[in-house]
Amino acid sequence: MKRGFKAEAERLASRLRGEMRVKPDARLDVDQLARHLGVSVRSAEELVPMAELERLDELQSGCFSAATFHLPNGSVVAVTNPLNDSPARRDSDLAHELAHVILKHAPAQVDRLGDLTFFDCNPEQEEEANWLAGCLLLPRPLLLRYARQGLTPDQVAEINAVSIEMARFRLNTSGVYLQVKRTARQFH
Ligand SMILES: [Zn+2]
Repeated sequence: MKRGFKAEAERLASRLRGEMRVKPDARLDVDQLARHLGVSVRSAEELVPMAELERLDELQSGCFSAATFHLPNGSVVAVTNPLNDSPARRDSDLAHELAHVILKHAPAQVDRLGDLTFFDCNPEQEEEANWLAGCLLLPRPLLLRYARQGLTPDQVAEINAVSIEMARFRLNTSGVYLQVKRTARQFH
């Protein structure tokens, strides 16, 4: 990731919350964020018969999480997978797609090889989108409050309707545990 990107992602997340009048320490509604960005959200079953999606999933399980389409008329549509096993997974996939939109990443190139379609994926942009999605769902001020309260990743996941992996990842990588320990040391 580019130097300074992590701090920039926290700033973007907090600016968007400000624009949406969502408090820094409140839970984010990802669909509300999509509306704020002017992105319409559709479940893939509205576009493709459910049987097709199930067949695709049988061929390659989990091959499709979510995708964003930039239509010729300028509108942006994020499509989520109805076969996602949990709402938390659906929300984090959607947050990932919205992160691409926020970061103005160029839409993925579509390559065809015979009957197969491939989305070209840029590993650096994927990493950035993952990181920003984490900041959007669990911004640092929120994590800091949880760390001070001594909440576990399971509890943070439950309160925010995110996956436990996401909660653990953000708690560990945002540096809030370290910050809480430092302040505690100052007072004792
Ligand atoms: Zn992506």
